This record gives sequence, structure tokens and C-alpha cells, in this order.
Amino acid sequence: MTREARAVINVSALRHNLGVARDAAGQARVMAVIKGNGYGHGLLRAAYALRGADAFAVTCLEEAIPLREAGFAHPILLLEGPYEPGEVQLASRYRLDVVIHSDWQISVLQNARLARPLNAWLKVDSGMHRLGLPPERVREAHAQLAASASVSPHLRLITHLAEADDLDSGKTDRQLACFDEATSGLRGERTIANSAGLLAWPRTRADWVRPGIMLYGATPFDHRNPPHAPLRPAMTLTTRIHAIYQHRSGDAIGYGGTWVCPEDMPVAVAAIGYGDGYPRHAPSGTPVLVNGVRAQLIGRVSMDMICIDLRGIDEPVEVGDEVTLWGEGLPAEEVAEHAGTIAYELFCTVTQRVRFLEERDRHGPHPHSV
Ligand SMILES: *Cc1c(COP(=O)(O)O)cnc(C)c1O
Repeated sequence: MTREARAVINVSALRHNLGVARDAAGQARVMAVIKGNGYGHGLLRAAYALRGADAFAVTCLEEAIPLREAGFAHPILLLEGPYEPGEVQLASRYRLDVVIHSDWQISVLQNARLARPLNAWLKVDSGMHRLGLPPERVREAHAQLAASASVSPHLRLITHLAEADDLDSGKTDRQLACFDEATSGLRGERTIANSAGLLAWPRTRADWVRPGIMLYGATPFDHRNPPHAPLRPAMTLTTRIHAIYQHRSGDAIGYGGTWVCPEDMPVAVAAIGYGDGYPRHAPSGTPVLVNGVRAQLIGRVSMDMICIDLRGIDEPVEVGDEVTLWGEGLPAEEVAEHAGTIAYELFCTVTQRVRFLEERDRHGPHPHSV
């Protein structure tokens, strides 16, 4: 029996979720964010599935050039702009759009001699305080870029939201007000919204929206109370049961003996662990599905294995049966919350050892609200 840790990527779920983003976007155009290897789903796989988007956004040249080489003609935005001066030449050659967030990048463009000017998005720090020019610098920077021969007439404006996943936070409204004031009267299309903005803050839609996580079927919101969106999980991580034992009351399970059997009980060992990207910090009690039925992880996550409490599963369970770690039937957000992380990280950290497969639609349309 081969080791059966698999990530099954549902291409039609990706396409469906793009439709959900489009519906939510109204008149705004949709830039599909496929950075981070398509949030762990595979860069080209995500791009093919999401090719109905109006544009793609990635982090760096290493993610953008393969898209061009695969024939995608969409606008492609480098969300962090050039990392070093020479990159603007490549951006120009591959017709990549750039975010410009710093004075040093403005200088690079002012001094560059480009065969083809770049479409630039001037990034405003409206309150996240990560990347972006301070609001009081925006007008001057806009004028500098507009005057540069390296920048096309399509000079646009971008900002990023820090707390849009928190429906009770006043931060998003403050960021909107800051962005509006810093850019009032400036020409150019605008983009503000990530998935959380798109789903929960209609005023952030502007001319373009930039959904990422929702395209993969998860949301950044507290999974117990998300805004309604009929998303479908795009990645289902599964493996198989490799052994089953009948342990005795008092037996301690796994490294450190952190979980002790309260009674005589059946325990399964499933072939997945942190070496596959399953989070090591997932504690006892983290949900898994065994043959589609909810059960709980017990003891520490090992590199290659986890242990599962089989009490409460009425149907017989056998070696070789399927275990689902997240995906269809078990939202990644819920697993992430147990592990003290977010679905984004779960998706991004699935390792090379896991076999990636594509599924067109094994179970037919199966909308689940997340
Ligand atoms: C990653 C990213 C997004 C997408 O965010 P999600 O929360 O995944 O929707 C949008 N904009 C920028 C600048 C990003 O870095």
C-alpha cells in the first residue's frame, strides 16, 4: 500500500468561487490573487481554473514569469513591486504591472530606460503601516510617477486593509476615509478590497477588487459567524488509516504522553503529520473526518502520523479507510482555529510529499456556506 496523503484540488470549486467573488464585486473588476503558489493549490492550476478573472496578482517575478510563459495574457500585478532595480526591466519585458510603495522604487522608475513603460499602482499606507507611502506623500509621488517616462498613463491607486476580517472594528472605515482624502482629485482607478473587504465592506469595492482566500473556498472571518458566502472548498487534504489498536485505560498516546486514554478504547494511526504540512500545533480535540464522520485528534502530531480517537464512530473502521484533515465536510478555518493559525497558512504549507490531484467534481455541486 502506498502512502496516501493527498491534496485533491477541485477545479470547479475554484471557478465557482470566482463567480461568487464576481457577484459580490458588482461593477468592479476582479483581480484574482494567486501568490504563494496559488495559496498552496499550485500556481498554474489556480491560474487555469481562475482564468475568467480580469487580472492576476502575485508577489514576485518568480511567480509572474511562469504565467506569461504558460501563455496567460491577463494583466499581472506584482503586489510588492520590484525588489531590486534590475527587476523593472524584466517587468517591462514581460508586461507586468507593478505596485510602487516606496521612494526608492520611485527613484528606480525615474532613472530606468524602459522599452515599454510600466502600468504602476501607487500604494497608499491608509493605516496598515506595512507597505505604502504615507498619505501626506501621495500627491507628490503621484506627480513624480505621472511625469516619469517609465510609467504608462494608466497610473492607479492601491491600498490594503488591516482589519476587514473584524466586523466590529472601526479601522476599515478609518482606512477608507484616509485613502479617500489622500487621493481625492487624483486621476486613476482604485483598488482597496481583499476577500474580507469584498464580502463584508461594500464601500471598499472601488474599481478593482483583489480576492485571494475566498477563491480557495475559505474566509478570513471567525468560522462561527462569517458573512454568508456560498463558497466551496477547493482543497481537500486526505490520507488513510495505517493502523488501528485497542488501547487500555491509562495508556498515554504518542510523544510526551500528552493524552491519556480515559477507558479501554480504539485508536487509529493516520498517515499524515507535520512533514506533510499538517500543523504540529493542532491540539488533542482538533476535528478530523474518518470515512466522513467527525472524530478527534489525540496526542501530539508527529512528522508522519497522527492518532485519532475512534470512540463514537458507529460504523466499523478499518485500515485503509479515508481520513479527511480539511476540505469537503470539514472547513479549513475550523481546523486552523484549533491549531492557532489561519486557513491561509494551512493551504500554503502543504509539502511536496503530499500528492496533488485535480478533481473536476467528484460529488457534484455541493455548496457549503463558510
Ligand atoms: C494577499 C493579498 C490580497 C488577498 O487577500 P485575501 O485576504 O487572501 O483575500 C489582496 N491584496 C494584497 C495586497 C495582498 O497582499
